[in-house]
Amino acid sequence: MNVPLLDLKAQYKTIKPEIDAALIRVAESQYFILGPEVEKMEQAMSAYIGCKHAFGVSSGTDALLLALMAIDIKPGDEIILPTFSFFATAGVVARLHAVPVFVDSDKVTFNIDVQQIEKKITARTKAIIPVHLFGQSADMIPIMEIANKHNLKVIEDGAQAIGVHYNDGRQVGTIGDIGCFSFFPSKNLGCFGDGGLVTINNDELAERLKIMRVHGGKPKYYHKVIGGNFRIDAIQAAVLNVKLPYLDRWSAKRRENAALYTKLFIEAGLSEGEGKIVFNAANAVLLPKAVFKNSGHKNYHIYNQYVIRVEKRDELREFLTQKGIGNEVYYPVPFHRQECFAYLKTNDADYPVANGAANDSVALPIYPELTSEQISYVVKTIAEFQKNKRSL
Ligand SMILES: *Cc1c(COP(=O)(O)O)cnc(C)c1O
Repeated sequence: MNVPLLDLKAQYKTIKPEIDAALIRVAESQYFILGPEVEKMEQAMSAYIGCKHAFGVSSGTDALLLALMAIDIKPGDEIILPTFSFFATAGVVARLHAVPVFVDSDKVTFNIDVQQIEKKITARTKAIIPVHLFGQSADMIPIMEIANKHNLKVIEDGAQAIGVHYNDGRQVGTIGDIGCFSFFPSKNLGCFGDGGLVTINNDELAERLKIMRVHGGKPKYYHKVIGGNFRIDAIQAAVLNVKLPYLDRWSAKRRENAALYTKLFIEAGLSEGEGKIVFNAANAVLLPKAVFKNSGHKNYHIYNQYVIRVEKRDELREFLTQKGIGNEVYYPVPFHRQECFAYLKTNDADYPVANGAANDSVALPIYPELTSEQISYVVKTIAEFQKNKRSL
């Protein structure tokens, strides 16, 4: 049986007539950049996410970069962020000649370890970028408390988490000062190329950011600030206008798939349940858990990635690949170990959780169109590997 990590064609099949009509509509309009499709998308997004302003931008990376530019991050400013995330979270900080300050991750959610933020704050700290990794919210209440106490801005990296609610019901992207999202095709809501979104409640900051999206000129050709070309195309907005109404159904399907994985892993004797660390057992698999360490509240996890932790991860990956099962490591190299950040002179021993996750985590197929047969094949295959491993 073949189980790809992601099957975008399967999704396209389910909405092909609507998508094709939208693409043709843009072709016939010959209106390609910003414009009515983009405005319609932005209105739909701000209604869906529950924020005052939403601006379509060129990518999730540019959403973060633009957000940092809009809050006036300067060379030498320090920005606190998790060491375990996609490269863009740290890359945008360094590109502005600001200093990324890395924090280790929480053992169970893979999100930033809130307990370790405050000791990284100095007189130069300007902002925190919590990442809602793999599709569940970082623990935003304590993060906002720390930010308010020290007068820091909060830029939420929600690239993997559109439609995620925090445990108090608010959606991510509405809690900090600015929310950033990505429509890269492998995210829960993907467009047909690169695209992103910025969400804001503050009117003044929104106005500034909107101007900076098109080089900072207002009126056109008169520049009080320096922006860039951070525009999104009409084609991408048209695709998103078709897809957005399906997003909650797709995320619900991912959650069902995750629940089925949990059930089958427990039945196979490979796990005692979500977040139960039984690494000493020879055949243990650590399943993702939708919960906060501190508050114990349930989290609404939309599983952009379904990441388990296992011993002999690399051998398991080889076995899965042989058996036709897609898998990937997010992320093999935390920021503090990246060559390009060697100049920061971080101490590797400060990041035991991220280092552990880099060594033993693997993402399994979780996309909405996955069948229960495919899911049980994945679990059976992992069980077979674990049995062989034991007899080695
Ligand atoms: C995908 C992603 C980004 C960047 O988004 P792009 O649209 O690919 O530029 C940023 N942060 C995280 C956590 C991501 O997963």
